[in-house]
Amino acid sequence: MNVADSELITTLLIEQGFVAARDIDSAKIIIFNTCSVRQHAEDRVLGRISNEAKRKKSDPSIKIGVVGCMAQRIGEELIDRYKAIDFAVGVDQYDKLADILKAEVRLADTELNSQELYPHLTPMHQGKTNGFVTIMRGCNNFCSYCIVPYTRGRERSRKAEDIFADVVSAGKQGLKDITLLGQNVNSYLSDGISFPGLLQNLNEIEEIYRLRFITSHPKDLSDELISAIQGLDKVCEHIHLPMQSGSNRILHEMNRNYTFEHYRNQVQKLRNAIPDIAITTDIIAGFPTETDAEFRQTLSAVKDIGFDYAFCFKYSIRSGTKAADITDDLNEATRLGRLQELIDLQREITLCKFKAQIGKETEIYIEGRSKKNALQMSGSTRDFKIAVVDGDESQIGKLVLAKVIDATAGTLICEPLC
Ligand code: SAH
Ligand code: SF4
Repeated sequence: MNVADSELITTLLIEQGFVAARDIDSAKIIIFNTCSVRQHAEDRVLGRISNEAKRKKSDPSIKIGVVGCMAQRIGEELIDRYKAIDFAVGVDQYDKLADILKAEVRLADTELNSQELYPHLTPMHQGKTNGFVTIMRGCNNFCSYCIVPYTRGRERSRKAEDIFADVVSAGKQGLKDITLLGQNVNSYLSDGISFPGLLQNLNEIEEIYRLRFITSHPKDLSDELISAIQGLDKVCEHIHLPMQSGSNRILHEMNRNYTFEHYRNQVQKLRNAIPDIAITTDIIAGFPTETDAEFRQTLSAVKDIGFDYAFCFKYSIRSGTKAADITDDLNEATRLGRLQELIDLQREITLCKFKAQIGKETEIYIEGRSKKNALQMSGSTRDFKIAVVDGDESQIGKLVLAKVIDATAGTLICEPLC
């Protein structure tokens, strides 16, 4: 979502006459688009800002700004505490950015606007093969650990015709593999068009090869959506379905509104309809009060489902959320130990999933040169796996049919078929 928002901001500034710098060292204005989902993300950006602040000391004309969720959450505090920061602009105020940049005042603008969808902007995507298109902003779910509903405000869906135009534009710019973005795409609704209806419309766009979407909430995944993945040729055989925990008590404490049994049932329905579908997930280790037995339930859930990949996180306290009020009896070492155990288990499962592809034919969308082998190109399969194959740069942005001959826990090694 931040990649998409950065493109939106870049487009907006270029339309206002600003010019993109070659790299950060030649930039006169540096804008950090930030994430607040975990403390680690915020700490990292503060480190980056202090590096640039040193450069600003020798050239005071440089401007440093912060946008995104961290600006939204603590914009005023950033301006007060860090003299090097000139402006902090929240997620709904990007239209004012150009004026703020021209003005010679330090300020934080963090007003939330529950209507803001930036309808007049069609983002430019420079030199890319894969596109992110935002279909909705905000979130209404208030999972107890999560800061997003506070920083990004209430859920609202973009108009289907605006999304259609953005996908066509991305396709024309050479981005043929499009990911639709929203915190909970299953609840997309605009002028009576639901998410499966939107997919049906977008499936007609000739300028693109593939459609993906993130993120689906297990409580809202509908049979219509499963049919759409099954029936629409451009919609890829992959779903990102965050499970978060395998313990029903923890899921309840997280305010996720489903049980593990419901989650498992949804996975079964998906696999019955689309046998080769790849399922990826997000899991949080060490939610406050999580017992060792409850964590073991998560480990057995991970084995039981057999995810293709899992993004595993250590719980990070976010002030202002409901979970921040729970008396937390877990220490950092326990959290870290659980996270590592989870990552180790998932790595084994991912390796099995990748090895199981050996001997199969697969379609690779070529995205660039392989970093490890100059004679190979790298791309993605329909089921969200990285694949490398012999080839050359003329194939970038094209589909290649290949056979999987080997695999690691992160890459399919393929040979071209034609
Ligand atoms: N809307 C998406 C996720 C957005 S945040 C969804 O519901 O799936 C991406 C992931 O970050 C979440 O799925 C969750 O696993 C993780 N996350 C969110 N808040 C967190 C926190 N406070 N600590 C650790 N991980 C967190
Ligand atoms: Fe956060 Fe839950 Fe909304 Fe995802 S669905 S953004 S985890 S509150």
